[in-house]
Amino acid sequence: MENCIFCKIIKNDIPSMKVYEDEFTLAFMDIANDVDGHILVVPKKHVVNMLDADNETLHHVYDTVKKVSNMLVEKCGYSGVDILNANGEDAGQTVFHLHVHIIPKFKGDGITAWPKFNGGKNGVESTYKKILEEINK
Ligand code: AMP
Ligand code: ZN
Repeated sequence: MENCIFCKIIKNDIPSMKVYEDEFTLAFMDIANDVDGHILVVPKKHVVNMLDADNETLHHVYDTVKKVSNMLVEKCGYSGVDILNANGEDAGQTVFHLHVHIIPKFKGDGITAWPKFNGGKNGVESTYKKILEEINK
């Protein structure tokens, strides 16, 4: 898609630090330099996010997420990964081509990649009832 930065990376129109590539997906270094080893996995097909994606594309993306994560753990000295993925502007998505963040982890690395929440406002049971009511309408 025109004007999509990740489509441009996939087409090699702009450079990227590629970690893994296959017919359907690409994994490359996130340039944020916010944490060592931050990698993004994208489908070669332009889809906006997980909510917009067909199951086949999602399948390919998560196959690659697993493959790259295992490489990091088996070959690069990490012992785990956090997997993050924002879907929609209000969820913090800033690039509107589906991407999954891999944050490699090791014991005592001091990195909190998992969000720190402030505590629910409405209670678990009440929110549960509301969700059930809405999805069963
Ligand atoms: P999100 O906020 O979840 O949509 O994540 C978008 C990510 O894309 C951010 O972590 C950016 O650092 C990253 N990003 C943006 N442009 C590039 C680029 N040209 N190469 C690599 N990563 C990028
Ligand atoms: Zn795109």
